[in-house]
Amino acid sequence: MRVSNLLVPTLREVPAEAEVVSHQLLLRAGFMRKAAAGIYTLLPLAWRVISKIERIIREEMDKQGGQEILMPIIQPAELWQASGRWDVYGPELFRLKDRHGRDFCLGPTHEEIITMLVKGEINSYKQLPLLLYQIQNKYRDERRPRFGLMRGREFIMKDLYSFDRDEAGLDISYQKMYEAYTNVFSRCGLRFRPVVADSGAIGGSDTHEFMVLAESGEATVLYCADEKCGYAANQERAEAVSQRTGSGGGAPGELTKVHTPGCRSVDEVTKYLNVPPEKIIKTVIYTTEKENVAAMVRGDREINEIKLYNALECVRLDLADEQTVQRVTGAPVGYAGPIGLEGIKLVADHEVMALVNAVCGANERDMHIINVNPERDIKPHLTTDIRLVKAGEPCPKCGANLLEARGIEVGQVFKLGIKYSKALSATFLDENGKAKPFVMGCYGIGVTRTMAAAVEQNYDERGIIWPVQIAPYHVIVVPVSNKDQNLMQVAESIYCDLNEAGVETIIDDRPERAGVKFNDADLVGYPVRITVGSKGLAGGQVELTLRRDGETEMVPLNNVVDAVK
Ligand code: ATP
Ligand code: MG
Ligand code: MG
Ligand code: MG
Repeated sequence: MRVSNLLVPTLREVPAEAEVVSHQLLLRAGFMRKAAAGIYTLLPLAWRVISKIERIIREEMDKQGGQEILMPIIQPAELWQASGRWDVYGPELFRLKDRHGRDFCLGPTHEEIITMLVKGEINSYKQLPLLLYQIQNKYRDERRPRFGLMRGREFIMKDLYSFDRDEAGLDISYQKMYEAYTNVFSRCGLRFRPVVADSGAIGGSDTHEFMVLAESGEATVLYCADEKCGYAANQERAEAVSQRTGSGGGAPGELTKVHTPGCRSVDEVTKYLNVPPEKIIKTVIYTTEKENVAAMVRGDREINEIKLYNALECVRLDLADEQTVQRVTGAPVGYAGPIGLEGIKLVADHEVMALVNAVCGANERDMHIINVNPERDIKPHLTTDIRLVKAGEPCPKCGANLLEARGIEVGQVFKLGIKYSKALSATFLDENGKAKPFVMGCYGIGVTRTMAAAVEQNYDERGIIWPVQIAPYHVIVVPVSNKDQNLMQVAESIYCDLNEAGVETIIDDRPERAGVKFNDADLVGYPVRITVGSKGLAGGQVELTLRRDGETEMVPLNNVVDAVK
């Protein structure tokens, strides 16, 4: 490829709207252009980087037995209604109607579609495990699309879903993906850390986020100073100090759904139904999304109180502590006060469905559950005090010092269990001919975000410094003057030789001053620059410069290919 033909519109100025380095540099170096807030066109160089990241991902997924498919972006509302997510997903879901007025959404993720697919095609335990994945655009109407590709409203994700016959199978699939993700981010040349992300699951493994370490990261990562201990957690989620306080458990068999029109609090339901407060659960489910919690704290909404997940665990946020309220919600202090049975308990997105299932689908406005047996139904067996564990405090696992870093979430692995298979009645027959729900996991990598994260970690004042593995091209050949015929010829032949030797090489054949070419080459971030100048040529040599440290050596003309390789 010749720079004269390549669409790489570099800019001198830092674009005003770009706050973080990757956003600035990807615009300035001519990798992308904005179409709308959080929606970008990727230009040729960016597309090459993306293709390389995708190739690495495909190789690692395939190595673990993943099979690539492609699912529809447009998904029918019925599936989302069946899983319960149509109502709980909130404004992040892009919703649309077809010409007949039927509801659809643009997929932010694909659990529903894939569960229905597998439900229809897989009947026997003999066909499991099954690992299916795709690399595709995802759509999320983020409240604050920002930082360029880091938080887009349209972005590329690799999502893999595992289907197993039991928890032991899921453990294996999860482990495979954990390993695959470690390989993917290592092969992309990134410094990263897998961190525990499940609230309260210190040392647990139900979900991990893969964090690329960079100053601009939105997440705070805490990790143990003692390498051997290995504790690392997302502070937002796994900041909790958890304690087991009881066993809970028991089937919610006697819970009954009742109509409670207009009742906005447990008090009102108590009066309306003449049922003691401890026998009532509010059933309108909101999520742990900060906006919702903030709204609840302001009193505009009533919070749901429970997380029922098989063993009926609760996660509790102690709202008695005003500082905690302020930190978690961002809302001003002064809240409506705890309601419900155990104070206010939060329900995470992924837990909502389990609750809905557990309480027979009563997740509706103006409905409550009665006949609650607090000991049986909501006694927290894992109580989590949401309190910031800070850097400098003892590691919750080993007691050593905790250190802090900023991280960008580039991937997440997650044990779903039977949440979706149960909601969508997706079962297979086990050895005894008994129908069992698939035990599922889901595993995402933000492909476009990974590209941005690579820039956040690899740049200097002159521009991007691509890790070789994902660089758009490996080498740029720069003839310092286009007027010198001999020099141009030498540059052309080096360019051809390198390409023939399988080195991805580009030549800057533009009639520009050498300084302009050097600046652009540094801005774009090609790992190696071969400079062909008349002084060097007089001695039969060209200059080889490494982008990362600027190290330069003179290389004899007949040795260029070897020197680069
Ligand atoms: P975040 O916490 O940053 O909002 P998430 O936890 O909502 O991300 P997941 O549902 O875990 O995201 O999706 C899998 C991966 O997709 C994430 O780890 C991230 O790399 C990527 N991703 C998620 N949202 C975006 C976005 N708006 N823009 C770009 N990539 C994203
Ligand atoms: Mg998100
Ligand atoms: Mg996240
Ligand atoms: Mg995530």
